Amino acid sequence: QPTIIPRAEHTISRKDIDNDALKVLYRLRSHGYLAYLVGGGVRDVLLGRKPKDFDVATDARPSEVRKLFRNSRIIGKRFRLIQVFFRGGKIIEVSTFRRPSEDDEDEVLSENNEFGTPAEDALRRDLTINALFYNIADYSVVDYVDGLADLKAGRIRAVGNADVRFHRDPVRVLRAVRHAARTGFSLTPDTLEAVQNHRGELCLCPTSRVRDELMRDLKGGAAAAWVELAHETGVLYSLLSTLEPYYGAPDSPQRARAVELLAQVDRALAQGKDVEEAVVLCLLFWPALEELAAEQDFPPGRQGRGQWALWVRDALPSLTEPVAFAKRILERACQISGLMGFVKLASPGQTMPKKVTARGYYATACELAAFLGWNLESLGSAAPGKGASKRRRRRRRRKPRNSKA
Ligand code: ATP
Ligand code: MG
Repeated sequence: QPTIIPRAEHTISRKDIDNDALKVLYRLRSHGYLAYLVGGGVRDVLLGRKPKDFDVATDARPSEVRKLFRNSRIIGKRFRLIQVFFRGGKIIEVSTFRRPSEDDEDEVLSENNEFGTPAEDALRRDLTINALFYNIADYSVVDYVDGLADLKAGRIRAVGNADVRFHRDPVRVLRAVRHAARTGFSLTPDTLEAVQNHRGELCLCPTSRVRDELMRDLKGGAAAAWVELAHETGVLYSLLSTLEPYYGAPDSPQRARAVELLAQVDRALAQGKDVEEAVVLCLLFWPALEELAAEQDFPPGRQGRGQWALWVRDALPSLTEPVAFAKRILERACQISGLMGFVKLASPGQTMPKKVTARGYYATACELAAFLGWNLESLGSAAPGKGASKRRRRRRRRKPRNSKA
């Protein structure tokens, strides 16, 4: 009982679809299998955006798919899917239609009941705009969930009963907010209510999943809109209760500043620049960190900078603590924030010590400073510092050669 939208009545053209994804679709099709383009790829093409990746769903079993593509491998334990490799590191993921997993919560799934029909596969998806299929057999769009109507009307709606779906997997709360922020669409009343009812259950999800989803929000090109919506829905404080005292008030200037900082990140990403995760992390927390710092009394100059760097090592991790960010990223965030003492607590005529400009994370710290409207490099550009760091590098280069031999 899906709505089938024939080729003439929708805007997906094969030109918009990655050539390798088309190859995968055609090969499945020519071997008699159903082959649909699914998920974010269909959504983004319909929205006139460039998809990040193209996922394929089929009625072929993983072992059958594996046989059709020499350059492929099976991944995943509970739900096996196939990755097909193409030139340039490109991967097209092919999964077999699945039935909603929450019905069978017992972990022991036999291979037979893990798979499902196309309809079941649509109904297990998170949002209606993410549940549209493009059928390579006749180039039609197959819509089991009224997703196309939602897409046209600018609505973010959970598939099925939002309350039930978000309760079964609270990560969907984050996904609803992400896609609303990214598209500028609005959450339907039911879905919004479910976001608010189930945001508190995010803490029950595996921390790694929550952390990965949050990073995708911050680095997905719509971080500013995400913070605003995460604030409005309360999701921000379900994730990071530590931010509520600083960003929670309706007219919080700190939150406004965080939004402004992240909007710069969004613009940089839109221009194709890469922004390090540690930098984005610092920017999300920066206005709160500064507010906390105001209670301290750091003297300008060398002593104050030392105190600042030490203090940041405690203060930043305690702000980020509810989300278990990767240690490596948090460590780097502390390092680069530590260097901001050079601008915050500048003393007249100071230059950047050469041992600081030689540090591996100095360039990243400069990047963070630039987002904050500071110029760290201008402090470090004193000629002696540069010369010294060059000498240092030369010395370092010579040594390992001998020691390795
Ligand atoms: P992006 O552009 O960020 O990749 P996406 O929609 O493709 O967005 P993915 O995380 O790549 O997101 O997931 C692919 C598809 O898998 C989604 O479009 C959705 O249909 C489905 N999906 C992902 N996570 C869930 C979930 N927690 N519950 C149900 N379906 C999900
Ligand atoms: Mg995707």
